[in-house]
Amino acid sequence: MTRAPVNKIIPLSLVDGPGNRTSIFLQGCNVSCAYCHNPETQAVCNHCGICVSGCPSGALTIVGSRVKWDPEICTLCDQCIKVCPTFASPRVRSMSPEEVFQEIQKNIPFIRGITVSGGECTLYPNFLKELFAIANENGLTCLIDSNGTTDFTRFPELMQLCNGVMLDVKAWDEQVYKKLTEGPTNSIVKKNLQYLADCNKLEELRIVCLPGEVDAEAVISGIAQTIGEKACSVRLKLIKFRRYGVKGRLQNTPSPDDIYMEKLLQLAVGFGFEKAVIV
Ligand code: SF4
Ligand code: SF4
Repeated sequence: MTRAPVNKIIPLSLVDGPGNRTSIFLQGCNVSCAYCHNPETQAVCNHCGICVSGCPSGALTIVGSRVKWDPEICTLCDQCIKVCPTFASPRVRSMSPEEVFQEIQKNIPFIRGITVSGGECTLYPNFLKELFAIANENGLTCLIDSNGTTDFTRFPELMQLCNGVMLDVKAWDEQVYKKLTEGPTNSIVKKNLQYLADCNKLEELRIVCLPGEVDAEAVISGIAQTIGEKACSVRLKLIKFRRYGVKGRLQNTPSPDDIYMEKLLQLAVGFGFEKAVIV
């Protein structure tokens, strides 16, 4: 049976796509962005046990060689996440698409669809395919929130079931991208950008803006040149970097000022992004 590690399910979200949606966050990512604001989703727990003794409510125990989490007594204090040396979380459930849908089902009267995020949810394409098939049958739209490093052209069935992708374009210059993400290359992201625009599955574009770390001006210009006229119809979010939740070398870095963000917005509008916003 297909299963995936689920970090959390937010029953009702207004920030993960159009309308009210249930958001599912899968654990594990294939890049390590320096500005990641939920770094505890990056790695899958290796059951080292370091976090167990610090849990104030006794929600963590070692059973055999594995760390077991008891959601009934966990107070969500985040102490385990603070001490984890590998950017993981012990509060992860291995779930099948059917089990996830059982949790979604009670929200159906209140939601337009579901959005699956991460970590990087496209690391689990078969899980997504099965979950989206069930959601489609129940009249829900399905969105993917992705860093774009999985080649979407390899998964035509999944793309058929998916209504759209919210794509992070983290950097345009390959060296800037590698430094920011510790990832290999952004060539697949650029290929996906073109592919999603061509098949009308580009739901939203996102750029986290931080001068000196992200070449946001080049990203705006590069996207515009890639997707052409479609720039006018795709929502572009210019996300102001915030250090909240960030671990590592950028944890004390201040946010860019409003003047810089406004300059980026004007640049985007000049390139035809009629739906560009600062968030
Ligand atoms: S968040 Fe972690 S440390 Fe806090 S109570 Fe829950 S399991 Fe324990
Ligand atoms: S969450 Fe982190 S610290 Fe806790 S057992 Fe897993 S890897 Fe170790």
